[in-house]
Parts: sequence; structure tokens; C-alpha cells
Amino acid sequence: MNREELVMICCSDLSGHVKGKAFPTADLEKRRSSGIGWVPTNAQITAFNNIADSPFGSLGDLLLIPDSDAEARVDFGDGSPLEHFFMGNITYTDGRPWECCLRSCLINALETLKAETGLSLFSAFEMEFQFLDDETDYGPGFGLPGFREKKMFGEVYVAAMRAAGVEPDSFLREWGEQQYEVTMHPQIGVKSADNAVMMREMARATSQRLNDPITFTPIRYPNAVGNGVHIHMSFLDDDGNPATYDPTGPGGLSKPARHFVAGLLKHLPTIIAFASPSAISYERLAPHRWSAAYNNLGYRDREASVRICPVADLPGLDVAKQFNFEFRAGDSTASPYLQLASAVLAGIDGIRNEMEPPEPTEEDLSILDEAVIAGRGFERLPSSLEQALERLENDQVVRSWFPDPFIDVYLKHKRGEMAHLENMSPDEIYKAYENAY
Ligand code: GLU
Ligand code: MG
Repeated sequence: MNREELVMICCSDLSGHVKGKAFPTADLEKRRSSGIGWVPTNAQITAFNNIADSPFGSLGDLLLIPDSDAEARVDFGDGSPLEHFFMGNITYTDGRPWECCLRSCLINALETLKAETGLSLFSAFEMEFQFLDDETDYGPGFGLPGFREKKMFGEVYVAAMRAAGVEPDSFLREWGEQQYEVTMHPQIGVKSADNAVMMREMARATSQRLNDPITFTPIRYPNAVGNGVHIHMSFLDDDGNPATYDPTGPGGLSKPARHFVAGLLKHLPTIIAFASPSAISYERLAPHRWSAAYNNLGYRDREASVRICPVADLPGLDVAKQFNFEFRAGDSTASPYLQLASAVLAGIDGIRNEMEPPEPTEEDLSILDEAVIAGRGFERLPSSLEQALERLENDQVVRSWFPDPFIDVYLKHKRGEMAHLENMSPDEIYKAYENAY
């Protein structure tokens, strides 16, 4: 059959889905600068394809402008069409950034961090997902049988990621039922969130080509093991040297890293509405799930929202270069741009106000009473999306970080997503998210 190659310009939107428009590749050079038309109300298409209340209605025109540094052009070598798309920024037709463009929001946050502190964020995403085929025997967590079972998937996937510009770090059989995990090497700035999009989309592209369905849903049924997104963060100074480690600082954190972490934790009960933004996200964010239930700091503790990670302190290895902290409260129903932007904005607030993080925890917090927890400087995270959105709606500090009308649009979007679930049974809700992500 005759074919003409197509390429797409995309954004990762408020639902965390990747959306855009395609055109003939022959027009790519022209479209690198002129982009492709986009519609404001598209932002209100939820994970379930209903349109949430939109302040824009049928009005307005925007552009989706591709970033040449965020291109996936992947040939799977199986005769299927190239996987070819760009991540881009949404602007007005005169080129001004659109207030609801999540990628621009992250770029701004990173520029502010750099301008105020001289620091660049160096970050990497790790993501868990599950295969849906429950006939297969995946063997025990981390086992060779499960690895062997999905080695073909893993190799096709790793090749696709690398071709899409992501540096793969690991692919492993996680502990949960049918669960696997993928990690990448860190990148400076927005590239890390671009790579997070690529990492998730290449998993989906691999899954489609191998006819082996997967899901990134936060949780598949009550008491299941959750699928988290963990973001490893560290800083580089103006000369590209590591700036996160200070052996004399608490937990080994340097001064700016300490204040950043403090800001992130302080604002986490509000920005969780961006990091874990679905109705079922909050089933995962509970004690004893190795996710995050409190806005606490953990020294190597996997039950903490922010964990100071271990490093290999071996001859010939530089601790400062490896040193990082891990933000564990997110999941794959969020756009990586917004997930990271909100964390960076919270961190900047911590640096500006020289906030101090609470003492690291190393125990079962769920048995402590609220007053003890409060006395130690942290709190339970919201336990539902409704609660998280209400907190966001009323948090004037967090609201002030975002240009109008973004927060109101976001709240309407998420409430529209919940409205879609209103008459569903819990089973149907889990299934809806499993299918949507
Ligand atoms: N599955 C856990 C989560 O929901 C994370 C387990 C781990 O990798 O530490 O985040
Ligand atoms: Mg894991």
C-alpha cells in the first residue's frame, strides 16, 4: 500500500494524556516554527474523554509549537509506521505562552530556580506499571523467571526509549502482581520531564506492537500494590558541579537542597493534587504501601514522601555526584511537567523562606496520634482527590505561583473527571482508570 509519512506535535495535558495533531512529515520544516493549531477547551477533555466545564467554551485559538529537542522518532523495525512525535509548548497565536501550558510552566519554574539560586535541576523518573495478562506466570518479585518472561518486551522497550532520546537505566520485575519498573538516567531541566513522557509512551508503543497490554494506573483494586512514579532530584551549580550533598548537613543535604526539600514537604498536602491527581491515587497513598502517606522526610525510608537515597560509597566513586533525594508521592495519572513544576515551585518557596525540613522519620507513623505527628512537623496527606482539590482551591500561596486562570481550569478539569465516575461502582472506577492509563 502507498503511504505518506505523518508526524505529530503533542502536549502532555491536564489529564496526563499525550495529545496533539499530526501532519505530513514533508511539512515538518515549516511547522517547526509555525506549529499547529490548538483549541483551549482541549485542556478540559478528561481521562475519560468527557469535557469538563470549560471557561473557554468554543472560543479561542492557540498554537502547539514543537521543541526540536523533544523528538521521538522510533523505528520498531517490524514494518509498522515510525513512532514520530514532538513534545511542544502551547502558545497564543502571537507566541505568548498560554497560562495552561504545563511544559511552559515547568520551564518557567526551572528558570526561576536557576535565576534565584544559580542551580539547575538534575532529575530522573522511575515508573511502575503492570501487564494486564493475568494468565501468565510472572514468578516472584525480582525473579529471573519474570524477567525472562518479559525480556523480549524489555529489550524492544529499551531500544525504543534509547531511540526516543531517553537513556535507559534499568528494567525490572517489581514485586507487585504482574508489575515491572523502568528507570532512566537523570537529565538537566525540562529534558527529564520530556523523557518521562517518552518513557511512558514508548512502553505503550511497545505494548501495542507486541500485543501485550499494560497499565500505569495508580492501583488496580483495593489492597493491590500501587504503581508509583518516583522522581529523583539533585542540583548542579553554575559550573555543572553537584550541589546537593554536604556531609555536615542533616541527612547529608546541602543548604539549598535542605530548604528545597522543606518547601516541597510543606506544600505537599496541596500540590499532591498535581502529583497524584486521580480519584484512585489516594488508595495508593496510604501507610504500609511503600508509597507516601505523610509529608515526611525519610532517610532511606521507602514509606516517606521524600527519601534521601543511598549512594555507593565505594573506592573510586564520588558520593556528591550520586547524592539525590527521591519524591515518592506521584503517579502516572499526572503530567510529568506539572508533577515536576509543582515540586520545583514548592522547593523554590522553601529556598526563598529558608525553610527547614522535619527530622527524618524511621518508624511506623500510622500508630502515632495526630498531635504527635503535628509536633514533629508533618501531617497526613489528603485521603481523597476531593480533599486535595479543596485544599488547592483554598491555598492562596500555591495559587499565587500559577498564572490565572490555570488553577480554576485545573479544578474544573478534575471535578469533571470525578463527575464522570459518579454513578460507577468501585470496581468500575478501578477499571476505568486501568483502561485510561
Ligand atoms: N509500589 C510502590 C509505590 O506505589 C513503590 C515500591 C518501591 O519501589 O519502593 O510507590
Ligand atoms: Mg519500585
